[in-house]
Amino acid sequence: MPAGYLLYADNKGVVSLILRGRWVLPVTRDPIPDGGILIKDGVICALSDGDSLEKKYPDEEVLLFENEVVMPGFVNLHAHIEYSVMQGKCRGGSFLSWIQDLIKEARSMNESDWLESSRYGARLMVESGVTCLGDISKTDTSFQAIYESGLRAVVFLEVIGLDEMEADRIIDDLRLRLLKVKDRGSERVGLGLSPHAPYTVSKRLFEEVARTAHQRKLPIMVHLSETADEEAFVREGKGLFADIFKKAAGWGNVSWNGLGLSAAMYLDTCGILAEKTIATHAVHMSKEDIRLLRARDVSVAHCPRSNAFLGVGKAPVKTFLDEGVLVGLGTDSLASNDQIDFFDEMRALDPSIPLDLRIRMATINGARALGLGDKIGSIEVGKYADLIAVTVLSDDPYDVCLATKDDICLVMVEGSVLHES
Ligand SMILES: [Zn+2]
Repeated sequence: MPAGYLLYADNKGVVSLILRGRWVLPVTRDPIPDGGILIKDGVICALSDGDSLEKKYPDEEVLLFENEVVMPGFVNLHAHIEYSVMQGKCRGGSFLSWIQDLIKEARSMNESDWLESSRYGARLMVESGVTCLGDISKTDTSFQAIYESGLRAVVFLEVIGLDEMEADRIIDDLRLRLLKVKDRGSERVGLGLSPHAPYTVSKRLFEEVARTAHQRKLPIMVHLSETADEEAFVREGKGLFADIFKKAAGWGNVSWNGLGLSAAMYLDTCGILAEKTIATHAVHMSKEDIRLLRARDVSVAHCPRSNAFLGVGKAPVKTFLDEGVLVGLGTDSLASNDQIDFFDEMRALDPSIPLDLRIRMATINGARALGLGDKIGSIEVGKYADLIAVTVLSDDPYDVCLATKDDICLVMVEGSVLHES
């Protein structure tokens, strides 16, 4: 059974309570001072000021957070929890040395190592106020770890293969993986596909993954335009990826001469850019690329601290927002981030981005990008009670952006408590 315990069940087994906070921050409407939320069976049933709610529902148990902001849990749009054990083991500053360290570390791990690493990562997510994850898994172990943790997620099964001849075998294998994880599935943990990146996936494999995703109505998450070297590799077939990475990763025999296109335009020719697609990183993008994302309704998972760790550059977040591209936030993995504290990601955004927008990017935007915008990401009647309570001593509820994970008092998914302190 998943972790978490339920508060205040009545004799029919329906869990019911009023959660009160110094502030309730619904995200999609103004903050409510001394707010209250009526939760029944994991779903938000009413929302108003706390006194009126208690008067209207006098028999309900009340959980009071006197000094806390109660808000939606964070939606971490891009993670690889299976890499959590690699914290401090991969060199930052250069993408190429980093990915070579990552490959080396990965080769030394067996299936039980991956599962333990995933479990550790899931625990860190919960402790940092994340209630929903867009997680990429190469080993499929994160699916089990997330299910056990009580978190909500979409797990994207990763495929890699630059050799065109291998595409059919990889797709057959993917079908089996989908069958296997579906058997262990729950409504709370959805599935998606992740063709890794333009420099590790062949055109044919991209096309097959796009076809499979569209047939099965699955979302796609892809690493896109993370480095300038990736752009040079796709456009001209030159640069460090062509010279070093292919050889290091054992793909020395693959011929690649470049396509004269940006990475985004190339993926569009493969059918990858579509409404349910999330482009991760998206650092080196022209205005045309950004407009293409908007035209195809692709969302962006912005990972400010991972980008800084790897020294890949700054993503054009302001342009994404100006052009109407939906942007959520991701921690990426502990292989490319010092620690998992979701507040750090909000703080790492460009100083010109106002606090309320940071919070939207950390919650509802990520939910919408994962196709869960009608279920989570804000405090609204009918949505799941995926909530956190965070101690904030100032008079401005948006100062929650200045908090750290140590200020979190409660983490709840669907009314079930996963963490409290
Ligand atoms: Zn990633």
